[in-house]
Amino acid sequence: MGSKVRNVYQEGELLPISALQHLLFCERRAALIFLEGLWQDNTYTAQGSLLHEQAHQATVECRDDWRIVRGLWLRSLELGLYGRADVVEFRRTQRETTLTVPLPGLAGLWQPFPVEYKSGRLRREESFEVQLCAQAMCLEEMLGVLVPAGAVYYGKTRRRLELEFTPSLREKTRATARRLHELITTGKTPHAVFRKKCRSCSLVGICLPTAMSHKKSVRRYLKQAMERGEDEAPA
Ligand code: SF4
Repeated sequence: MGSKVRNVYQEGELLPISALQHLLFCERRAALIFLEGLWQDNTYTAQGSLLHEQAHQATVECRDDWRIVRGLWLRSLELGLYGRADVVEFRRTQRETTLTVPLPGLAGLWQPFPVEYKSGRLRREESFEVQLCAQAMCLEEMLGVLVPAGAVYYGKTRRRLELEFTPSLREKTRATARRLHELITTGKTPHAVFRKKCRSCSLVGICLPTAMSHKKSVRRYLKQAMERGEDEAPA
């Protein structure tokens, strides 16, 4: 995926974690939002935004051996990313392991567990998994712990899907973050290619993939016409 592999980014170079999801959906979409500053809500994104706002409303909630933190700021200089976690659950344990960390003013040791809120029904989505894994890797870098698992919570069905952050998911997350930085560094928006998923893309009205696809077919038509000699001037 990239030519240059960075070990660490500077604060001013950090990009939003949420951009990973857009990039995996469509590179042109990520460029339209993060390079050209365009954004348009559709029903899916409006529901998603509402769910995220609800998740970020409170800040800290304590329940016995649980501490639920909403809207926690995250950052990773290794990935070059920053963002806010919808929810990080800290579960108290008395055993010191590589999975636990002390929290200021609280007894015991705590194991972090990130939860990302999504609208819709419970389903597997690679882009959600990469986004959640990036949050876990931010927590690891910030807190000096291992975060082996997290969950995606689906608003429509009110169910959560637990995920393990495997080595391959971590590598996919690193590669996606590198590709995002490459895209932003080049400053070039990729051409539109109409695909089935364009129908559910909130940017379809700005991106105009059908018109762009049409242009491509016109080019193809002209190329074919030239090959047939139809562009020759009449004698
Ligand atoms: S409409 Fe299609 S090509 Fe355009 S940004 Fe959305 S997914 Fe990408």
